Amino acid sequence: MTTLAKKDTLAAETVRDPRWVAVGARDPEADGKFYYAVRTTGVYCRPSCAARPARPENVRFYATREEAEEAGFRPCKRCQPNQPPLVEQYAAKVTQACRIIEASETVPVLEDLARRVGMSTYHFHRVFKQVAGLTPRQYAAAQREKKVRKELGRGGAVTHAIFDAGYSSSSRFYEKSNEILGMTPSNYQAGGTDTEIRFAIGECSLGSILIAQSARGICAILLGNDPDKLVRDLQDSFPRANLVGGDADFEQLVARVVGFIEAPSIGLDLPLDVRGTAFQQRVWQALREIPTGETASYTEIARRIGSPTSVRAVARACATNKLAVAIPCHRVVRHDGALSGYRWGVERKRALLEKEAEVELKA
Ligand SMILES: [Zn+2]
Repeated sequence: MTTLAKKDTLAAETVRDPRWVAVGARDPEADGKFYYAVRTTGVYCRPSCAARPARPENVRFYATREEAEEAGFRPCKRCQPNQPPLVEQYAAKVTQACRIIEASETVPVLEDLARRVGMSTYHFHRVFKQVAGLTPRQYAAAQREKKVRKELGRGGAVTHAIFDAGYSSSSRFYEKSNEILGMTPSNYQAGGTDTEIRFAIGECSLGSILIAQSARGICAILLGNDPDKLVRDLQDSFPRANLVGGDADFEQLVARVVGFIEAPSIGLDLPLDVRGTAFQQRVWQALREIPTGETASYTEIARRIGSPTSVRAVARACATNKLAVAIPCHRVVRHDGALSGYRWGVERKRALLEKEAEVELKA
């Protein structure tokens, strides 16, 4: 066979291979399913690699990266096929940055944050925004607000809450309080007045999902089969609010919440607007402290909030939770382990717990 004919045969073989289509499309879905190596450069890549496409006659496919390396190929520097997928790497770095921000007394400098997670400032800022849906600065601000709201929700003295949250002077807080809480602190404690709430409805593996956001954060995540009923539930929960449909930006938020519902272990690092009595807030906080993949009984939660005789009130607080999954009331079961009730149906509770148990096994 002439060299030319051999080249044609090799090219035809590659082109006939369905994996070649995935490489041509740089299909991220194909990542992890196989690798391709390029004879002329000596490197192997993920199917989604952004590098210039190779000529088919120079391409070889391998099921695993070990096979590619045994055949003498080096990992591509661009798509780093020997590292976890980029999305996972980014998610891990953003999570790491979130924890640093949460643990900081003051808002960390962007350059420092980027350096600590091992990325360039520019790239870090972009990746953070893409993964978290907000900038590191906005995230830091949301964290401080959360601290203030938590303190106010406990009914502690307003000034005390402000200093605890790291504001250097309360006058600065009062200047900003309108944009932070949407109202002045004493009003917020009194329950305030409802303003505009944006919402949208999407679909997830558990059925229809309604996501609503006030100026302060996500204020409702409701699950059900009937979208109209979800909107009525929302209006009942916020009778004085002016409900408006979400715009294109809001759709991104919906996508993120749906992503979180499908994979709760990712966590939802978005500000939540949690409205309830001090008792409800204590219960809901205790629910948020139940780790993914674990459950607790109503009795146990009552004990954890220092109110062991309030088991029925705990159950009521669970039943009035408006933030499905974000406040994981599905992780509360009867003390004999039975699933018991769930505001959004026992089948959904079972599905959520099964999903979380799977993740735990994989981890
Ligand atoms: Zn590559």
